[in-house]
Amino acid sequence: MKLFSILFIALFLYLPFNSIAWGVQGHRIVGQIAESYLTPKAKQAIQKILGNESVAMASNWADFIKSDTAYNYLSPMHYINLPDRLSYAELKEYLLKDTAADVYTELAFLIKQLKRPDLTKEKQVMYLHLLIHLVGDVHQPMHVSRAEDEGGNKIQVMWFRESTNLHAVWDEKLIDFQQLSYTEYATAINFTTASQRQVWQREPISQWLFESNQIAEKLYSEINQNEQKLSYRYNYDHIAILNNQLLKGGVRLAGLLNEIFG
Ligand SMILES: [Zn+2]
Repeated sequence: MKLFSILFIALFLYLPFNSIAWGVQGHRIVGQIAESYLTPKAKQAIQKILGNESVAMASNWADFIKSDTAYNYLSPMHYINLPDRLSYAELKEYLLKDTAADVYTELAFLIKQLKRPDLTKEKQVMYLHLLIHLVGDVHQPMHVSRAEDEGGNKIQVMWFRESTNLHAVWDEKLIDFQQLSYTEYATAINFTTASQRQVWQREPISQWLFESNQIAEKLYSEINQNEQKLSYRYNYDHIAILNNQLLKGGVRLAGLLNEIFG
């Protein structure tokens, strides 16, 4: 028994973690920013569904349930894999024919369902949790990238002295490096103007995906050219892009929630 435990722990420590989404912090930052732009009506409707849970704290449910195999069917819905070098026109064409279980089709499903007046309370709760999470995920560039390397999960890099992968760097390493709580982080980056918010919120989900995909292509090309040891310089060169994605995610989530519940 003891040997088994040791073997199990050893194996567990050895296995590289397959990263799943913006880490806990990234999703909370998006949720916290979204809350600051909700209309009073939307806020009230959401509170009725979530109870005492904030949007920020509701944002990680979709990752936490991954430990339960009953929810395995939801796993492909956190991302979308796309062919390389799509123009915006090509992407829109691709999405028109998209029938796969991915983040794009799932978002469309959730929005439609949450607008139904006859939706059961139980489904409202589940779908709202999923929606809050997935709007965050589509703003993580590596969630809108290539199938062949599993969105960068198979691209090994060094993050300071730690061996990890490109996906994980964008899920959490860069965010954790800032050493801020999620509320401090949201406060530090939540600067927008009303006209900027309006522009971001009016853009369709296809545009959100295109932006993430364009960033992902840039990240891939850099990794191919450079040494895959990432540290201070990588943070310096990319943190503004990452923060802008978190901010856009929050603003657009608020826009969507206001549209559904406002
Ligand atoms: Zn996710």
